[in-house]
Amino acid sequence: MTGEERILVTSALPYANGPLHIGHAIGAYIPADVYVRYHRMKGTDIIYVSGTDEHGTPIAVTADNENITPQQVVDKYHKQIKETFQKLNISFDNFSRTTEKTHHQLSQQIFLKIKEKNHLYKKTVQRPYCSTCKRFLPDRYVKGICPFCDAVDQRGDQCEVCGKQLEPHELKQRYCTICHGTPIMKDTTHWFFKLKQYNHKLEDWITSNKHWPDNARNFSLGWLREGLEDRAITRDLSWGIPVPVNGSEEKVLYVWFDAPIGYISSTIEWAERQKKPDLWKRYWKQKETRIVHFIGKDNIPFHAIIWPAMLMAEGSYNLPWQISSNEYLNLEGKKMSTSRGWVIWLHEILDEWPADYLRYYLICINPAKHDTDFSLKDYQHHINHELIATLGNFIHRTLTFIEKNNKSIIPEPGEMEELDEQAIREIQKAVKETGENIEDFRFSQALQSMMHLAHKGNEYFQHKEPWKKENNTTLYVCANMVKTLAVLMKPFMPASSKETLKMLGLTNEPGWGEAGELSIKGGHRLGEIRPLYSKIEDDEITSFRNKNLKKEHEVDEMSNISFEKFKEMDLRIAKIVDVRDHPNADKLYLLKCDLGGSVKQLVAGIKDDYPQENLLGKQVVVLTNLEPAKIRGEKSEGMILAADEGGKPILLQPDKETTPGARVR
Ligand SMILES: [Zn+2]
Ligand SMILES: [Zn+2]
Repeated sequence: MTGEERILVTSALPYANGPLHIGHAIGAYIPADVYVRYHRMKGTDIIYVSGTDEHGTPIAVTADNENITPQQVVDKYHKQIKETFQKLNISFDNFSRTTEKTHHQLSQQIFLKIKEKNHLYKKTVQRPYCSTCKRFLPDRYVKGICPFCDAVDQRGDQCEVCGKQLEPHELKQRYCTICHGTPIMKDTTHWFFKLKQYNHKLEDWITSNKHWPDNARNFSLGWLREGLEDRAITRDLSWGIPVPVNGSEEKVLYVWFDAPIGYISSTIEWAERQKKPDLWKRYWKQKETRIVHFIGKDNIPFHAIIWPAMLMAEGSYNLPWQISSNEYLNLEGKKMSTSRGWVIWLHEILDEWPADYLRYYLICINPAKHDTDFSLKDYQHHINHELIATLGNFIHRTLTFIEKNNKSIIPEPGEMEELDEQAIREIQKAVKETGENIEDFRFSQALQSMMHLAHKGNEYFQHKEPWKKENNTTLYVCANMVKTLAVLMKPFMPASSKETLKMLGLTNEPGWGEAGELSIKGGHRLGEIRPLYSKIEDDEITSFRNKNLKKEHEVDEMSNISFEKFKEMDLRIAKIVDVRDHPNADKLYLLKCDLGGSVKQLVAGIKDDYPQENLLGKQVVVLTNLEPAKIRGEKSEGMILAADEGGKPILLQPDKETTPGARVR
């Protein structure tokens, strides 16, 4: 990069259909905020935009279910999400919404430009239509079996199990989510984006982006190798941005076409608020801007493939420079699930403890390269035994010592000895390493570099024993170390930084460039000293857990069913008479089960846990009237019952030898 550095940072637009949880926070927001705060302190020309994504079928579905309008849904969640970000101290320069007029106009403009440049075409296709509800069923209005992995009850836009992008008509055994009826296929005309033609161009571009994280590169290159298909970018839906073409007024733009354009419209809105309405072009149109998208890994396909292809087709905007895509955060060893209530909501944890505690812990366990686990015990441990015991302790002991023994005045340093010189070198090292790690998107390592200095500070204080002999140099160096820490911690823990600077009696916030300077001179007076943090007690964790986290067995709690419903299940004792490997799947067996009068074939995913020889002759319980299905090409005529012990199957067996075919009730 030549000349001045210029960066535009975006965080994935949160979907205005529910509150945010801790996984969202570390997925796309806290890392971005650290990156942006650091660059601002360095004096980089940087802006940070986002906003709520307010279109699409999930919002329309929520509105239908709650009998309110989609606008009411998004108004409610936009407000709540914005407040949560304020509590979490996320420092957006602009936080917009995709229902704004600016955004509608820009999305339509971009659609028309791409159309003029001949990258769109109209095609009549068959799409699911519900005759009962008298409407087409786009995206999440349809559920069914995933055509790729056979997972049941998957939504028409994406399979939650295998992660594949879907179109509703690709689902098997699909049903209408409004009335549960079976949709018919009906002709409808849609606009398609010629995505296929970008296959090679995208491949060259992504291959050249060697600085991308592995997950974004590998996933998108893998998808390109499979080959791209043209994609419909319009939907038969009333909630969304109307397609600006005569004859298509009844249709709206697909939410994933308009959502990323929200990054641009949020920047335009920011420029307007600055009273410099053209300033946004500096970031989106002038070359040599680095556009950095922070997203969770589920958003990789759209940010690495479809969005850049749209921008290439339009032709006048900058392409993304970096895609920082985090893996998932699990909760207490299990995948988070909003539908099952296994989740910690941000507004709940932020009501309990300071935002800096959560920011600190989440950055420690940042799932940059692989999934990581959030546990309340581990959270408490990190706060009490690292943040407080190392960082809080060093700051507090240094400042209270100067307060008590030197009337809050920083002493003039004397001659430096080797230990003092070493401590000063640690200051320089921490400044350099923390900054480099942030610039290279290694956020937990950056935090460690900062914490390492606090650790070294404690060691230095301990070795120099200022309580035994008068030691002006030690106190002078320690006070400057505290100042360095106050600067370095700001991107991670802005509130703690502010408080520490106040205790140091500094009124101007130093920039990153001053972090390593010994700028606190002899004679300077400290402010009022207070403990920076207070420990998290065991009972706080217990009461938070009881209040906000369902107990494990409650997570799967279901609603009551009638005895009639139970009787509909034909459960039988069966004897396994044959076990073979599934020809097309590593983890599956083909089992032949003797049910007395008949033998049925079942496909069972128990290969990792039961060797063939342990199954042969075993008596088990089988649900025999489950709708037959083909699983990876082999028919399965029922289901073998097993307990789920942390994801491992444990087969159910009768207490004693039973006649095959005996009913279970
Ligand atoms: Zn799937
Ligand atoms: Zn219906």
